[in-house]
Amino acid sequence: MDRITIENLQVYAHHGVLPEETVLGQRFLVTAVLELETRPAGRTDDLELSVNYAVVSEKITAFLQKNTFRLIESAAEQLAEYLLLEFPLLHGITLTIKKPWAPVGLPLDTVSVSISRQWHTAYVALGSNMGDKESYLNEAVAFLQNEKTIRVQKVSDYLVTKPYGVLDQDDFLNGCLQLQTLLIPQELLELLQRAEQAANRQRLRHWGPRTLDLDILFYDDQIVWEPNLVIPHPEIPKRTFVLEPMVQIAPYFVHPILRKTMRELLETLSAKNTDNQ
Ligand code: AMP
Repeated sequence: MDRITIENLQVYAHHGVLPEETVLGQRFLVTAVLELETRPAGRTDDLELSVNYAVVSEKITAFLQKNTFRLIESAAEQLAEYLLLEFPLLHGITLTIKKPWAPVGLPLDTVSVSISRQWHTAYVALGSNMGDKESYLNEAVAFLQNEKTIRVQKVSDYLVTKPYGVLDQDDFLNGCLQLQTLLIPQELLELLQRAEQAANRQRLRHWGPRTLDLDILFYDDQIVWEPNLVIPHPEIPKRTFVLEPMVQIAPYFVHPILRKTMRELLETLSAKNTDNQ
């Protein structure tokens, strides 16, 4: 990705753990490496198609003067998120905040924190088999659309599927969605679990224990293997009700472990299911 760099922007602000830092303030130096596609602006010479570095510099200055953080880690984290939300063309950012002559009682030049943050693409599976299934799926989509750190980009059609595993239950309604997010995988899982709980609370009153199931299918091409979270979701190649909607919204997305497109995985599974009939 292309980059625009703002180097060592000086901002007088009041961040720090020590009382004199918050009362007297001090000078901070901010370097922001903005990641975006500069080609559209480069080909047309149109500033509207790029991110205006003068405006970014003003926003950095105003943000760091309006807010006070004890830690430059927090200042960098919040500022990165603010800028990524504020400038739609910005795909990612590397922010370095330096504190020259940080008051540690020893002779040093600067202390700095440097972080990289960006929009990630994730695919989420939606399922419901109780009550007003379509409403539960729609509410889950709306819940995600309401989160500022999520941009829902594509939602598949919902398809009715026969239950899988436990057979003596109602048909399922399943779908998938593609989103962009600033959340890391564990935070996204937490958010999906909150959406499930919101639906389950309603269901506990009216319907019973499971109305909404949300799974992370993919997160960029990352492989995650943690006790409570496995990405890519291990059941993907076995589930027609996941692959069919995935083929609808991202047919050429390549499974990062199996190295097959969604379309190829669905074809393989359909052939296997036909053989078994
Ligand atoms: P279930 O409700 O049957 O889908 O199972 C939910 C549990 O699976 C949760 O406790 C999660 O911690 C765990 N889990 C593991 N990997 C994933 C994933 N990729 N997406 C959602 N939940 C996951």
